Order: sequence, then C-alpha cells, then structure tokens
Amino acid sequence: MDPKLLMMMRRFRVKEILWESPKTFTLRLAPEAGEMMGSFLAGQWVYLSLLNPDGTAWGRAAFSVASAPDESREQLELGIKVYGEFTKRASRLVPDDIVGIQGPFGVFTIPAEASSIILFAGGIGITPLRSIIRSLWLRRSATQVILFYSNKTIEETAYFEEFTRMAKEWPAFRPIFLLTSQAPANWMGEVGRINAEMMRRHMQDFSQGFYFVCGPPGFIETVKGLLIEQGVDVKKRLKKELFG
Ligand SMILES: Cc1cc2nc3c(=O)[nH]c(=O)nc-3n(C[C@H](O)[C@H](O)[C@H](O)COP(=O)(O)OP(=O)(O)OC[C@H]3O[C@@H](n4cnc5c(N)ncnc54)[C@H](O)[C@@H]3O)c2cc1C
Repeated sequence: MDPKLLMMMRRFRVKEILWESPKTFTLRLAPEAGEMMGSFLAGQWVYLSLLNPDGTAWGRAAFSVASAPDESREQLELGIKVYGEFTKRASRLVPDDIVGIQGPFGVFTIPAEASSIILFAGGIGITPLRSIIRSLWLRRSATQVILFYSNKTIEETAYFEEFTRMAKEWPAFRPIFLLTSQAPANWMGEVGRINAEMMRRHMQDFSQGFYFVCGPPGFIETVKGLLIEQGVDVKKRLKKELFG
C-alpha cells in the first residue's frame, strides 16, 4: 500500500467498550466518514491516536487488530490492557468519542500454505492471534489450529468463553489454557508456566506447521527455546510479535 495512505490518520468513532477482564477491554471502532482503512491481514497492527479537544493527536501507541478482516469491513476491534498513562486514558473513552487510526502495519500474518498453525499467547499477546483464529473460524477452515494461551488467573484470561464456544463448534480448533498463578478447584486446563512436557502432551509432531508467539519478551524467549529443543527450525517456521 502507498506509504502516504498508511500514515494518513483516519478518524474513527468509538462504538462500544466491552470489558473482557478486570484490566482488558475491547474497543470497537467504526470509521467516522464510513470509509474503512485499506484492507488488512489477520495479525497486523495499527496506531491508535487519542485526540485533544481541538482534534490534534495527544499521543499514539501500537495495537494489534483483534477482529478478523472479514468481519471488520464496518467496525474493527482492538483489545487493550490497561498499564500506564496512554491505556488508562484509552479506557476512559466513551461511545461517540473520536480517535485516530493509522495503518495497517506488520508481517505477523499466516503464510498461504499453512495447513496447521500452533499459536502461543502470553496475556494480552492474544490480540493478533484472536484475529487469526477468528479469520479461520469465520470460514470454518480445515487448517488445524492449536492455541496455548497463558495467563495468571482465569479472571485475567480475556476471550476465554469465546474460545471455549468456538472449540465446541469447530473441531479444527484446540485451545489450551494455562494458568500460572491460581487455578479454580474444577480447572480442566494446564497449571504452571509453559514447558516441554506440557507442549508434548498436546502435540506429538513438531515437524509440521507454522508457529506464532506473541507476548512479553520472557514468554517469547521461553517458547522459542522450547521449540528449538523440539527440533523446530525457528528461522523458517516461527513468527514473533513483541509488544515492546
Ligand atoms: C506491534 C505492537 C502491537 C501491540 N498490540 C497491543 C495490543 O493489541 N494490546 C495492548 O494492550 N498493547 C499492545 N501493544 C503495546 C502498546 O502499544 C503499549 O505499549 C502498551 O499498551 C503500554 O501502554 P501504556 O499505557 O503503558 O503506554 P504509555 O507508555 O503510557 O504510552 C504509550 C505512548 O503514548 C503516548 N503518551 C503517553 N503518555 C503521554 C502524554 N502524557 N502525552 C502525550 N503522549 C503520551 C506516547 O507516544 C507513548 O509512547 C502493542 C505494541 C506493539 C509494538
């Protein structure tokens, strides 16, 4: 796409804020003038600008698009975890507020030839992977999708019900939820940090497919190291997205 178009700031209207966990919300946006940004690929990100009352940019930060391209022709979704000043301010947005969007950017996208993909998300690193999962789910794709999704607690696991529902009606999708801090008494998922034994419990063959990891730097390095141990050629078959 023309770099000038990519950097052009488009005005979007806030449609809805949906809280997915105590600190994470989905920001649903629609273009103010009805004209969506150029098409994007699942896994790409945009710059979100918060505006001053006079319409100039107050500040901007990068956010992966969390919705699938096919469902984002009129509205798109960002999944935002509240940390510092920018995200606190974003969490106070209300319907009809205007924000700026630039993009899309990034190459954290699925190769056309992928017959199976294995996804690893640490916390809010789920957002680009949600876009990828939803894009395959909307088409009920035969691509096999395994998701390892690590959070401290079930309460912090954004989109837990959504992924659980999807897995019931789409056999190609297998979400594996990991809780690293506290698990409820009747918990059926994994407990503890990701490790080789845990990975091998859910995957026998590491010679196929493409691997995607998104999350904090420590999580990315751990997953990369574990995949190398299993013989995965990480230069060719692992894509990483760091929310640095
Ligand atoms: C490719 C990519 C994708 C990402 N996707 C996601 C995602 O999907 N979800 C998610 O939650 N995070 C995502 N992040 C991380 C996100 O961009 C923020 O870095 C993160 O949310 C930290 O938020 P914060 O509130 O601490 O930001 P802050 O550190 O407070 O601010 C971020 C930026 O906002 C501006 N800003 C802050 N305060 C002011 C001020 N007082 N005046 C003017 N400008 C100011 C500055 O430009 C600053 O660099 C992504 C990062 C990258 C690189």
